[in-house]
Amino acid sequence: MNTLNCKVLVIGGGPGGYVCAVRAGQAGLDTIVVEKARVGGTCLNVGCIPSKALIHVAEKHHVLTEAARGDSALGLSASAPGIDLSRTQVWKDGIVEGLTSGVAGLLRKAGVRQIEGTATIVDGKTVRVETDAEPVTIRCEALVLATGSVPADLPGLPFGGAVLSSTDALGLTERPETLAIVGGGYIGLEIGGAYAKLGTKVTVVEAAETILPQYDTALTKPVMARMKALGVAFELGVQAKAHDAEKAVLTVARGDEETGIAAEKVMVAVGRRPVIEGTGIESLSLDMEGRFIRIDTQCQTSMRGVYAIGDVTGDPMLAHRAFAQGEIVAKHLAGDSAHWDKRCIPAVCYTDPEIVTVGLLPDAARAAQETTATAVFPLQANGRALTLERKDGFVRVVYDKQNELVLGIQAVGAGCAEMAGEFALAIEMCATLTDIADTIHAHPTLGETLQEAALSGRGLALHI
Ligand code: FAD
Ligand code: NAD
Repeated sequence: MNTLNCKVLVIGGGPGGYVCAVRAGQAGLDTIVVEKARVGGTCLNVGCIPSKALIHVAEKHHVLTEAARGDSALGLSASAPGIDLSRTQVWKDGIVEGLTSGVAGLLRKAGVRQIEGTATIVDGKTVRVETDAEPVTIRCEALVLATGSVPADLPGLPFGGAVLSSTDALGLTERPETLAIVGGGYIGLEIGGAYAKLGTKVTVVEAAETILPQYDTALTKPVMARMKALGVAFELGVQAKAHDAEKAVLTVARGDEETGIAAEKVMVAVGRRPVIEGTGIESLSLDMEGRFIRIDTQCQTSMRGVYAIGDVTGDPMLAHRAFAQGEIVAKHLAGDSAHWDKRCIPAVCYTDPEIVTVGLLPDAARAAQETTATAVFPLQANGRALTLERKDGFVRVVYDKQNELVLGIQAVGAGCAEMAGEFALAIEMCATLTDIADTIHAHPTLGETLQEAALSGRGLALHI
């Protein structure tokens, strides 16, 4: 059996793993990354990028559909659009291919050795990899676990056939007539919204009494309203039970009462589980936090020399959090005193309208600080939003009345995702209302709404 030695061994080439490996390689550390599928992980192959590609296509389709119906306030007309989803898939796969080969190139450039195969952890310094050729044993000084997560299914609805995971739903080459989405969270609403715009009759089935239960209803209300206008039906506070593929019906239960929902296909998106089982990670007996690996501020696990980053360490399961953790581990291994000292992790839900949250939501801020206040500016008073035909939504600043320190910023609105960077920068730099209010924002941009919300918090609202 082939044996290799290295300083840093990264298991998993997703956003956490590849960033850690690239940075470790750039720091001159002898680094190997093992990936069983394609580098880029969930994010590039079956997550962030493919879903945003589908959302983009769906929006284009929707604009044409409105014009064809004679509903275009802009005076546009068109004939009824069609869609060849197999061509859409080719376009999407081209983007994925470009990005994943880009990542492989970055790893090569950083001098990182890439091994294709499935890793099994033997101990904290030894990993065995099954490859297409003979197995390889790799010995390392530091082991980084970046095995990510996979979709969780439900007992009555195992994946297969007409019961789809997000990966399956993103790869469809035929548009389903009816689609039930189980789970009104990030994935369900992003992909469900996209299929609704492609003309599928979508029903969202959610166990909680509200969609995106982690957010307040002020943020989710515009999303719900827009999705309803797109023809999406909602079944809230219900449990999905079983799917009859022949009858194309999903049975859901509210207490003892059962009803059937038309569903040629069902996508289950009720969260994701960490990839630990079957990888040998269990044999390390690491301290856990629920189902996830417990880490400290340097992403060290309870075993010396073993690190964990990304989805395998729990919520929020976001690519940019994994990136940041990968950077910290690489810096730490290169002798830097890096540790997690971020004030916020921005989150964007690519629903229509998009939801952006950075820092504390009002309730959490109030619980921590009695002198919390909020200031809101509606998109309907923003010129750019009006020219984009989308005045639904608002920007909200959560701040401390005593010193004007901004504690959180949220927005809901079409195109608001692009403001996430400014929101995060403001919180990271401990901006006050005055810092934001006194910053010249280009006109006409959606970003002016943040300035206006800050002005409003200071009692100086201008355009309202
Ligand atoms: P992963 O990306 O899951 O990568 C782990 C890698 O490890 C995989 O490539 C896997 O093949 C490999 N691996 C696992 N076990 C082994 C083994 N034993 N041997 C070798 N290799 C192994 N996040 C955002 O921030 N923005 C978004 O818009 C967004 N959209 C999403 C949309 C969807 C549909 C989904 C499913 C997720 C989305 N996410 C989004 C979440 C994001 O994809 C994840 O948070 C991110 O990919 C986590 O990175 P990771 O490196 O921890 O794990
Ligand atoms: P999620 O946690 O966002 O939502 C799951 C939803 O399913 C919740 O609303 C929950 O109440 C509901 N649910 C749970 N059990 C249920 C049941 N039995 N029946 C009906 N509903 C049930 O999970 P997800 O949508 O699967 O996404 C997983 C993770 O992926 C997200 O938490 C997020 O971190 C990441 N992600 C991020 C983005 C983004 O950043 N734009 C996009 C997609 C996914």
